[in-house]
Amino acid sequence: MGRSKVLFEYSAGGVVFRVTPDGKPEVLLVAVKDGEVWTIPKGLIEKGETKESTAIREVQEEGGVRGEIVDFIDKVEYWYVWPDESGEKLKRHKTVYYYLLKYLEGDPSKHDFEVNDAKWFDIDEAIKIVKYPSDRKILEKAKELIPKYLS
Ligand code: ATP
Repeated sequence: MGRSKVLFEYSAGGVVFRVTPDGKPEVLLVAVKDGEVWTIPKGLIEKGETKESTAIREVQEEGGVRGEIVDFIDKVEYWYVWPDESGEKLKRHKTVYYYLLKYLEGDPSKHDFEVNDAKWFDIDEAIKIVKYPSDRKILEKAKELIPKYLS
């Protein structure tokens, strides 16, 4: 057995919420993997960015909307394997920092081509439709936090 290389990656993402006229919280999800996986917008933290600025940028790029951070939700960690530039399989450990964002403006139909779709979901629908258990956990925490920020 050879030594195995591990790459550590850091991403940030955001749960954007708004409230319908009848008082129900909705959150924005994006569809990836040919539209089969609904997930929370996120992406790699780039050079010169903070976790917070990445979360705001990814929500805008992937989700098509602008939001302001009101709270930190939690961080999530997972492993996956993806080749490096030479094609060699590389084990990667990803940490994702999730923030809660209050919706300001914009339209999810303006999402970028990196994702297959972007839509508002009732928070309970969102909790049901996401594929990754960590997304579910983040949305459940967001659901608990949102009432603090309803004005
Ligand atoms: P980023 O959005 O951070 O730029 P990416 O789109 O390149 O990253 P990931 O979304 O991290 O990559 O996906 C890499 C692999 O990890 C895929 O196989 C994906 O199915 C899996 N994956 C993505 N999110 C999770 C999660 N929350 N829990 C477990 N596995 C996940």
